[in-house]
Amino acid sequence: MENTAMGRIPYFDGHCDTISACAHTGRSLRENEGHLDLTRLGRFQKAAQVFAIFANAARFPAGTLWDECQKQHDVFERELAANADLAVQCRTGADIAAANAAGKVAAILSIEGGELLDCDPEKLATVAAWGVKLVNITWNHVNGLSGTNVEDTDRGLTDRGREFVREAARQGILLDVSHLSDPGFWDLAEMGLGPIAASHSNARALCGHSRNLTDDMFRAIRDSGGAAGFNMYEDFIGGTRSLDDAVRHIDRFMELDGAKTVALGGDWDGCELFAGWRGIQDLPALWDALAAHGYDRATLEDIFFNNWLRVLG
Ligand SMILES: [Zn+2]
Repeated sequence: MENTAMGRIPYFDGHCDTISACAHTGRSLRENEGHLDLTRLGRFQKAAQVFAIFANAARFPAGTLWDECQKQHDVFERELAANADLAVQCRTGADIAAANAAGKVAAILSIEGGELLDCDPEKLATVAAWGVKLVNITWNHVNGLSGTNVEDTDRGLTDRGREFVREAARQGILLDVSHLSDPGFWDLAEMGLGPIAASHSNARALCGHSRNLTDDMFRAIRDSGGAAGFNMYEDFIGGTRSLDDAVRHIDRFMELDGAKTVALGGDWDGCELFAGWRGIQDLPALWDALAAHGYDRATLEDIFFNNWLRVLG
């Protein structure tokens, strides 16, 4: 039953912390008790997942984050090599199409926080060579590039931040504004370097958390040709944290002419899921709720797959 429900819908998600969970718990990417694994991803009609390398800098001794970043990259490569029958790393839209045509999950790499690269623009060439497609300028803790949504919230991009952003654009890596400070967001938007991604952020008009996007931010992402991934974290959904509240966030973005901008960004394995959800196996309920609410299949396919494909493919 569950398999059938998942088999009806395509899936392309912009953010999970599953690789860091695998690195720290020894959990297998193939099958685990967390929010997602390759076995469950394989049940969708077709699937693509952005896997973030992530570490909370406060829990690591100074000077060790780049080592941690490389370690998690090793975990990503090892897990994909061990599960080559289920998934393959993808760098382009053609890669993703080929993976899906072969019945495999398309795995895409991202990095959550410039501090994992020591805020060093020169390391961007290295991670671009790994196939990294998306980099968050910050996570929650302030770094040498910018203030964040919760620390030094009134500080925008530093000179180094601007250098980092320009180099990322040169390397073909998209900048991700989820976790960035509001001034940092607008500094980036004004630089006009191409599509802006908010891999896992909701509508601030409905849930006032600073991790969420104001309507103007969403419009700026839309106008840049980027995408915003809907986050399943209950604290960023707010309200009664129900499926109806989730639908309201997507409605809000759609009302802002977001049909080609709103996407999925579950924050899987990095959050407490809303409405008692257990993981990606519960996504058919969101699809069905949106369909019942009047979204046609083509619109849902854009939200659930095509919008990220256009931006990251
Ligand atoms: Zn995050």
